[in-house]
Amino acid sequence: MKALLIIDVQNDFFPGGTLPVATAPEILPALNYLLSCPFDFIIATKDWHPSNHTSFAVNHNKIPGEIATLDDGIEQIMWPEHCVQETLGAEFAPGWKTEKVQKIFYKGTDRNVDSYSAFFDHRRDKATGLEEYLREHQVDTLYVVGLATDYCVLYSVLDALTLGFKAYVVADACRGVDLAPDDSAAALQKMKQAGAVIIELQNFKH
Ligand SMILES: [Zn+2]
Repeated sequence: MKALLIIDVQNDFFPGGTLPVATAPEILPALNYLLSCPFDFIIATKDWHPSNHTSFAVNHNKIPGEIATLDDGIEQIMWPEHCVQETLGAEFAPGWKTEKVQKIFYKGTDRNVDSYSAFFDHRRDKATGLEEYLREHQVDTLYVVGLATDYCVLYSVLDALTLGFKAYVVADACRGVDLAPDDSAAALQKMKQAGAVIIELQNFKH
C-alpha cells in the first residue's frame, strides 16, 4: 500500500505566519496534483505545540536562531512561537485540497520536548502513532512532501527509512527553511544517502 505523507503544510510556515518558509506556496501545484492521484492513504502531520513549548525562544529568554541546551541535555534550536494548538497559525494553509486528508498526526504536543519527525519526539520516548497506523494498514511505501525540507521532512524520512518503509521524496512539493543557504540541498542529499528516492513530479508515476 502506498501513502502520501504531507508534512506540516500549516499557516505559520507560510508567508504571513510566524515561522515562514518564503517559498512555501510554490509547493501547492505539485501538492494538488498529487492529491488527485490514487494513493491508498493520504496522511498529514501538524506541528501542534502548547504555548509554553520548549522550542519557543520566548520561553527561554532567547532570540530565535540561538541554540539552547534543555534540562535533559538535548540541544534545541530556538524558534519563534509557531503552530500553537487551536490557533489559526496551526491550521492547514489555504490553497490545497485538505478535505482529501484521511488522517492527521500531531507532533510536538509535549511542552518539554520537540519533534521534527512525524514518527517520534527528539528523545524517541514517545511515538505519534504514525508507525502503528501504517503497519495496521499494510502501508510499505511513503511519498513524502511538505515543509520544511531541512527539518521535519528530513527527520520524518530518516525515521521512515530506519523503520523499514520505502520513502520517495517529491522534491518540488517540498521547501526548506534554509537558515544556511544550502540546508535544503544538504537535507535532500542526506535523505538520498539514507536510501530515499528523490523524485520530481514529472518522474512520478502512479
Ligand atoms: Zn515546531
